Amino acid sequence: MHQGEAALGSRAWAVGLLRTAGLRVTATRTAVLMVLAERPHAAAEEVLVEVRRRIGSASTQAVYNVLAALSAAEVVRRIEPAGSPARYEVRVGDNHHHVVCRRCGATADVDCVVGRRPCLTPSETHGYLVDEAEVTFWGLCPACAGTDQELEATRLAAGA
Ligand SMILES: [Zn+2]
Ligand SMILES: [Zn+2]
Repeated sequence: MHQGEAALGSRAWAVGLLRTAGLRVTATRTAVLMVLAERPHAAAEEVLVEVRRRIGSASTQAVYNVLAALSAAEVVRRIEPAGSPARYEVRVGDNHHHVVCRRCGATADVDCVVGRRPCLTPSETHGYLVDEAEVTFWGLCPACAGTDQELEATRLAAGA
C-alpha cells in the first residue's frame, strides 16, 4: 500500500499500481484491479462479470490474460485453495493466510499470528530456497455454521 494519496480501489490507485509495476495502463487492467479491491478473493468468473458491468464489454480471454499478467507482475496475488477455482486479491507481499469455508467457499484473510512471514522458516527446507508459504485454514463460515445449528434445532424439534 504505497500508492501515495490515491484511495484503495479508486481509478487513480489502480493506475498508480500499474505504473509502479511498469505495466501499460488499459481500461481492462484498471477495471480488474478496482473489482479486486472491492471483492478480495474473487474468482475469475466473478471478476469477469464485474468488469463487464463497469466497462461494458470485455472478452473472457482478455480478463483471464489480465489476471495472469497482474499475477506475474505480483500486482495481484493468486491463491488456489484445494478444490476451488483460483482466486485473486490485491493484498500482496505480506504472505497472509486464508480461512476458507468448506461448504460455500467464503474466504477471509488471516494475518500471520507470530509477526511477519513466520512460515518462511520451515523446520526442514531440504535445500530449497523458500520465498513463500501458503497456509489455508479450512472450516465452516459463520453463515454455514449457523445453518448447521438451525438444521440441528429443526431436527430436534421434529423429534427425529
Ligand atoms: Zn460458508
Ligand atoms: Zn487474502
